[in-house]
Amino acid sequence: MRIGVPREIKNHEYRVGLTPESAAELVAAGHDILIETGAGAGIGAADAAYEAAGAKIAPDAGAVFAKSEMIVKVKEPQAAERAMLSDGQILFTYLHLAPDPEQTADLVKSGAICIAYETVTDPTGGLPLLRPMSQVAGRMSIQAGATALEKSHGGRGVLLGGVPGVHPAKVAVLGGGVVGFHAAQMAVGMHADVTILDKSPAALERLSNHFGASARVLYSNRAAVATAIAEADLVIGAVLVPGAAAPKLVTRDMLATMQPGAVLVDVAIDQGGCFETSKPTTHAAPTYVVDDIVHYCVANMPGGVARTSTYALNNVTLPFALALANKGWKRALAEDGHLRNGLNVAHGAITCEPVAEVLGYDY
Ligand code: NAD
Repeated sequence: MRIGVPREIKNHEYRVGLTPESAAELVAAGHDILIETGAGAGIGAADAAYEAAGAKIAPDAGAVFAKSEMIVKVKEPQAAERAMLSDGQILFTYLHLAPDPEQTADLVKSGAICIAYETVTDPTGGLPLLRPMSQVAGRMSIQAGATALEKSHGGRGVLLGGVPGVHPAKVAVLGGGVVGFHAAQMAVGMHADVTILDKSPAALERLSNHFGASARVLYSNRAAVATAIAEADLVIGAVLVPGAAAPKLVTRDMLATMQPGAVLVDVAIDQGGCFETSKPTTHAAPTYVVDDIVHYCVANMPGGVARTSTYALNNVTLPFALALANKGWKRALAEDGHLRNGLNVAHGAITCEPVAEVLGYDY
């Protein structure tokens, strides 16, 4: 199959659909890879690295779209890219169609076969192509929080791990799912004093078994959250209620109970945030201060570490890209119900029930 990878054009997106190593795997399986010149620049992968992997370089996105049976990307196609999709062409990328009627209408019109990373499932009911980005955001939340705690960034001037003879910082992690687990791992690794709060008995048991005495694992209720944030130097917001806006666990009034210069990192900002005072920020201006509390609410944290994120994403997308290329989309989806769950649009019809329901299409 001829597989094309355009350079990402969404504002400040530096990731790329395939690493040179993934391109080499697809070439080894007998496929032709066409990469837009400069597509890997954001992760430090030069055209020459792709050529060494056996890929060909295309001068522009037009050539990639025109000559490829499958397009592999990271972000949802922008309007200019949607105009280049053709009937029957496979598009494999993040789509997030439910809140995006304009994109959905264009994909329906294109006749393309659109498979969304975020709706591919696994046997445990998880979303395996979202998971690595939560891992990245969770781990990154601690280094972002540690930086914000520095005096020059508005923080209270506390070193996460302390030093011998001085207390370490107190870190409260609200939500112990994928983001929260990875945040806690980093905080514990940096010798902070860590408390994790969750509501799910299964999550509490898993966290407690994993962290043992190295972190406090508590049931999340109003009282426990209030106590944890009042004591904390750094609070990580990592809760998720599937299909709903994040619950506002920390109200504006509660900020007055916190220590001036304490830091809130709201990873759940992409679901509206779990602090009442959160509003989305960017990597260019990641923090702001409300009532002496520093807020970090970057909505696309993984984009800040594009190289790590691209490799993490490719580790989970490559097996599916190989299946699609080796078998063709019809057989690949017929043989794998979890990949089938990724199909959102095909030949002008919506094939994902929740998307059809929200946007008023027939299903
Ligand atoms: P997850 O489902 O793995 O974990 C969420 C956890 O929150 C679960 O364990 C759940 O029991 C817990 N929870 C729910 N309500 C709670 C409450 N009231 N108190 C305490 N815990 C509660 O989800 P995840 O993959 O860890 O993602 C968490 C959030 O981070 C999501 O909103 C996700 O979209 C977001 N995210 C943001 C970025 C970013 O760049 N900002 C990147 C990746 C993920």
